[in-house]
Amino acid sequence: MDEKQIREDFKLRLAGVEDGTYCFSVCCDKEFFELAEISEIQDGKLDLRIEMVRNDKLITISMHFEGEVVMTCDRCLLPVNLPMDFDSHLVVKLVPEVEEGANEDDDDMWVMDENAYEVDLFHYAYETIMLALPHRVVHEDDPDGNPTCDPAVMDVLNNLSSTSKEKEPDPRWDALKNLKLED
Ligand SMILES: [Zn+2]
Repeated sequence: MDEKQIREDFKLRLAGVEDGTYCFSVCCDKEFFELAEISEIQDGKLDLRIEMVRNDKLITISMHFEGEVVMTCDRCLLPVNLPMDFDSHLVVKLVPEVEEGANEDDDDMWVMDENAYEVDLFHYAYETIMLALPHRVVHEDDPDGNPTCDPAVMDVLNNLSSTSKEKEPDPRWDALKNLKLED
């Protein structure tokens, strides 16, 4: 799929759409994450179900994201698969004239011109996914409480934290060491 086609998937037509409920389904996969420049996500796939309810000048858009994303472990820097399942809601109000600054206060309530041809959810989907990502990502411990991170990397980390002499500092390793000390 090319970039234009991916972006088209997030555009819901408004012009000439009668009152009622409409359902759409969009796939947020690696191409989407790259296009949206979500560098935190290496890979994965989120199915996005969109329900649009139109009631005259009021449009309610409910989105349900479900799937899995692959991020980088903060401890061993190897990929971690994270299941994701979250919702987001957006209300669009159609008005004869959009006042300046009408869309500055509320991210989940948009004011649009009643003659708008479509509503574009690409950026909204991107922001919703970003908000749902965890701040810290690590491989989960096994049932015995042992880390399941890459053992080779963990060995290096253990050696690093037991030697007092530092070599050329690499910010990545420094960050890892700090995490290790916190544990
Ligand atoms: Zn790890």
